[in-house]
Amino acid sequence: MNASIGSTAAAPADNATRPASEGVDPRLAGRALKRVAFSEREIADRVAALGREITAAYPDGELLVLGLLKGSFIFLSDLVREIARPLHVDFLVASSYGNDTVSSGIVRLLYDPETELAGKHILLVEDIVDSGRTLQRLVELLRERGPRSLEICALLHKHIATHLSHPVKFVGFDAPEEFLVGYGLDHAEDFRHVPYVASLQ
Ligand code: 5GP
Ligand code: MG
Repeated sequence: MNASIGSTAAAPADNATRPASEGVDPRLAGRALKRVAFSEREIADRVAALGREITAAYPDGELLVLGLLKGSFIFLSDLVREIARPLHVDFLVASSYGNDTVSSGIVRLLYDPETELAGKHILLVEDIVDSGRTLQRLVELLRERGPRSLEICALLHKHIATHLSHPVKFVGFDAPEEFLVGYGLDHAEDFRHVPYVASLQ
């Protein structure tokens, strides 16, 4: 009777820290993990600390937290709950064109925030900074709208960005040079719901 209600497989007490050692995570659609880069608990602790940093960094003014979809959706939803001041939330959807042999990628906004940006503190939230090309172009686009300030918060930073003139002020973790999934990051739209950040085999 009970088996029809919950999962029949025993859930690990803390799948946050030991998903790989538990063998098969049913979220992974048969793919094997190489390793867990950041556990659920490590992420929660770091996001709480980032929230405190951000709270302290904005003593006054209107704060608009702008999430870059889709990758930032889980990070943003956890992060804003750790920021102890008034704020608004909106999203951006950007599409990148061009290829790696072209140094200036074209970035188009598929969804433009409805919120007025002028005169506000804008905090752009991104999942991971790799080349920095997407962010660089977005920063240029957003600057034109006259924000009071414009800063970037990224969960992960690979520190190989050669295209970013604007430093990322708030960084969750220095990321290894591996392809990471989970906590919003996908591979072909899979794995966004995995609650930790991992690399795949
Ligand atoms: P950039 O413009 O900085 O080269 O690329 C940033 C974007 O590339 C991220 O928003 C993300 O969509 C994707 N990306 C870069 N590195 C990774 C990674 O390790 N895993 C995943 N899932 N996406 C990545
Ligand atoms: Mg992305």
